[in-house]
Amino acid sequence: MINVFQPSLGDEELAAVQEVFQTSWVGRGSKVDAFERTFAEHLGVDRKQVTSSNSCTEATFLAMELIGLGPGDEVVLPSVSFVGAANAVAARGARPVFCDVDPRTLNPTVADVEACLTPSTKAVLPLHYGGRPGQIAGIAELCRDRGVWLVEDAANAQASSVDGRACGTFGDIGLWSFDWGKIAVAVDGGILYARDPELAARAVQLAYFGMEQTSGYSEAFKAHTRWWEFEVNSFSRRSIMNDMQAAVGVVQLGRLGDFLRRRARIAELYEEALGTVAGIGTPPPLPAGHESSHYMYWVQLDPAIRDLVARDMFDRGIYTTFRYPLLHQVVAYGSSARLPGAERAAARTLLLPMHQALTDDDVAFVAAALEKSVTSRTAQSSAPARG
Ligand SMILES: *Cc1c(COP(=O)(O)O)cnc(C)c1O
Repeated sequence: MINVFQPSLGDEELAAVQEVFQTSWVGRGSKVDAFERTFAEHLGVDRKQVTSSNSCTEATFLAMELIGLGPGDEVVLPSVSFVGAANAVAARGARPVFCDVDPRTLNPTVADVEACLTPSTKAVLPLHYGGRPGQIAGIAELCRDRGVWLVEDAANAQASSVDGRACGTFGDIGLWSFDWGKIAVAVDGGILYARDPELAARAVQLAYFGMEQTSGYSEAFKAHTRWWEFEVNSFSRRSIMNDMQAAVGVVQLGRLGDFLRRRARIAELYEEALGTVAGIGTPPPLPAGHESSHYMYWVQLDPAIRDLVARDMFDRGIYTTFRYPLLHQVVAYGSSARLPGAERAAARTLLLPMHQALTDDDVAFVAAALEKSVTSRTAQSSAPARG
């Protein structure tokens, strides 16, 4: 089978893990520090603004706690978003308010977000669909004007930017994932960026039992004669990364540039093969100044045949999928919104395989299979009914 998402893990990552084994320190240590430093550099931010966690979802839960989210508050997020983001809001007793998206980019516009702001809005929590920045600069301006927090779920956007500024750093807090299915992976892991370094320091405490001192024995020793004693300032949990994850992550960040170049080329090859095929819509061109991470590549089809095409592709050994199933239709969130852009996108969009291990032949095979399926399914669905 050709996978939709797939990590590239090899000898270098294995050697890095082995090295950690040999130090006999596999918990949080120098590798986690190196991972945080490397990613801060990659983002172009101060190291003190960045901390890690064991997943992006956990970092999102931390973020909602950091902004003091609670009952009576609302958070605006696109309906085409990850379940963990809505859970992080709802788990604090706050209400997720789902906004619409542009049906072609699957990102919310400034107007989509603005239409959902109320006096109870505490934060806006957008993502960068498939790695495309979308109208993040405008959304950031809107949030500043209205005095609401902007928390960016940048899990799709490890290396996306607008005019050189990294996605995830437009607002107050940015969150990235390094789970197995992302571009650079740490097997599991997350990064939290906070514009305010004090907020980032608070995140460090919340990620480790709410303990005041987190820099190891020497720091603890300064505060207490007995280094095993501690102060707790909130009843928090344990959300930290370990050195085995971070060792893999550091190697992967070193390879990220190569991964991105390959993914950009694959997107080009798909566009060349499919851009002019009748019945297949491809993503609109990126606006000037926008860089995408090319985390996803998708096509848009007639809703009458989309699922049938997915089945045909599966039968030829090619996985396809749709991300993200609409959150406003998940009963537990209690939304009664009608969101025509999101509903339109969800009915037509199909993600094709997109990862750096795909060869040119793989891409040509996927594109040919898609064209064939769309052509034959379209003929069938438009044939007059018989008998
Ligand atoms: C992967 C992903 C997450 C969750 O990341 P984990 O590290 O698996 O918790 C959240 N949001 C988006 C948009 C994602 O793609």
